[in-house]
Amino acid sequence: MLQRGMKRLDFSGQGRMKEILLGGALAVVVIAALVLSIIHMVKGPTPPKVTYHFQCLKCSHEFEVVDTDVPQDVWDRTRPGERPILDCPNPDCEEKLSAKTMEWCPACEQWYLPDEEATGPRVCTKCGADIAQWVVKNLKR
Ligand SMILES: [Zn+2]
Ligand SMILES: [Zn+2]
Repeated sequence: MLQRGMKRLDFSGQGRMKEILLGGALAVVVIAALVLSIIHMVKGPTPPKVTYHFQCLKCSHEFEVVDTDVPQDVWDRTRPGERPILDCPNPDCEEKLSAKTMEWCPACEQWYLPDEEATGPRVCTKCGADIAQWVVKNLKR
């Protein structure tokens, strides 16, 4: 008789403990979800970073800037679809609006400054390779 009573007591005690634990865990989950959704709302989804490779047209100084480090006023004057243009960070030059984004040539494996006046296919200004043609030739195999 005593054993049965003990068992029943144990069981109910465990049940209450489970309830408390479950309630606590649930509260933690709900709070965590709430906090996460608030952070998400405030910060928004973080897009992958893009690194731009710049070259100053005046002194030929090359440097890299991650898109999130490009100042907001630069983005404000950059039209959609256009690449940002920066001031030269070279202390010996500091030319305003002289640094343009370069592009990677897979043929000669160098950064090159695309000829913006040129129409038609994009051509590497360093080795003369037609980028689109090079990609088709070398990656389609
Ligand atoms: Zn410069
Ligand atoms: Zn090239």
